[in-house]
Amino acid sequence: MKNYLGVLLIFISTFGFAQERCGFSIGNKIKQSNNPNWIKQQAEFESELKLLKIKNEGKQLRVTAKIYRIPVVVHVVHNNASNFIGGINNTNISDEQIKSQISVLNEDYRKKIGTNGFNTNPAGADMEIEFELAQKDPQGNVTTGITRTYVNKQGFDLQYDTQNIANIIHWDFEKYLNIWVVKSKNGTIGYSEFPYDSDLIGLEADASLVAGQSIFDGVIINYTNFGTCCGNLNSNYNLGRTVTHEIGHWLGLLHPNGDSNCGDDFCDDTPQIEKLNDGTTCNKLTSNCGSVVRINMIENYMDYSPDRCMNIFTNDQKGRSRLALSLSLKRKKLLSSLETLKETEKLTISIEPNPAKSIANLRVLFTGEKNINIAVFDMRGVVMYEDVYDAQKSSLYNLKTDNLRTGIYIIRVVAGSETSSQRIVIDK
Ligand SMILES: [Zn+2]
Repeated sequence: MKNYLGVLLIFISTFGFAQERCGFSIGNKIKQSNNPNWIKQQAEFESELKLLKIKNEGKQLRVTAKIYRIPVVVHVVHNNASNFIGGINNTNISDEQIKSQISVLNEDYRKKIGTNGFNTNPAGADMEIEFELAQKDPQGNVTTGITRTYVNKQGFDLQYDTQNIANIIHWDFEKYLNIWVVKSKNGTIGYSEFPYDSDLIGLEADASLVAGQSIFDGVIINYTNFGTCCGNLNSNYNLGRTVTHEIGHWLGLLHPNGDSNCGDDFCDDTPQIEKLNDGTTCNKLTSNCGSVVRINMIENYMDYSPDRCMNIFTNDQKGRSRLALSLSLKRKKLLSSLETLKETEKLTISIEPNPAKSIANLRVLFTGEKNINIAVFDMRGVVMYEDVYDAQKSSLYNLKTDNLRTGIYIIRVVAGSETSSQRIVIDK
């Protein structure tokens, strides 16, 4: 028994080391070789992002922010001919395993208190993005947001088989975030498509479009690195953070080393690092870049650290991803297709929770599309914050209560010609 355990441990650690967290860097090289203009297009994308960042600097100070709730479809592409669902070593993973992954995404992207996704780092951000399994399929029918397809294939190459996988099944890329769960055959456990294409001249010439094939967009994950449960997980990548990481790329984030020694990820609050974590340790690591020794932010979701030590997206990563969402044509289309909250005849606002400690959601419902103004007053009637949003439909906003001290405030919303106010108690 002892020997057996020893062999098992060696097997686990060897397998863990052989795993490659992410195929993003190799995928980029494939794109470069398929499309000679790729490097130039990447540079253009970065320079446009930089300009947009300067233009938007003031918006970081907003006290409210719109929460994006992205519909997700999970395509389980399995090789279980019996179609039996769930159980160990079954590529046809259970609904429970899938739901556990969606929970992790909402914990990590909302920095949710009391979960693994919470952190107290001053640079740590609530990304204000939520994910839900789609409730309607492309034909408008009710769905679980999960599809299951049997394919008689032992495994896939996550970087090279992107188009093959999308050809097996995909839903409209402009309406859903497509996530495929497959068996990886080469050790890479995650792959994702960057939002490079945009309305910039030249950037629409994506390699897959040039080849005249159907387009690929979304995230592909190995089935034993998906979710947090059900006895199907292995190695250090067992808490659902592979998907958190890959969606980070899908939102425009880079690895903290910019895929080179001391390279740039274009975020000022992620320390420059020599190389990514090898995925085996949560111990302190340091880097010497430009003769300055800094501590690596191994907690960053965009590093390759074991899942158990990750819990940070930074404020700059948040800023970058939200700008990338507004720059990329395909992401813009997805955001504009998001189902809005129900309409009400008159302007109706509600705040939850109330009293609030650190986060409060402000629901603003009305008819049609309107310019809106959200203002926070103290009890003396002094305006503390005021945010303006153009051409809005009924939406959910995050009210950042960390900018407010304990006390009572009035939230006033003006939508077109209508006004509605409500009290909120901040109790810290
Ligand atoms: Zn990556």
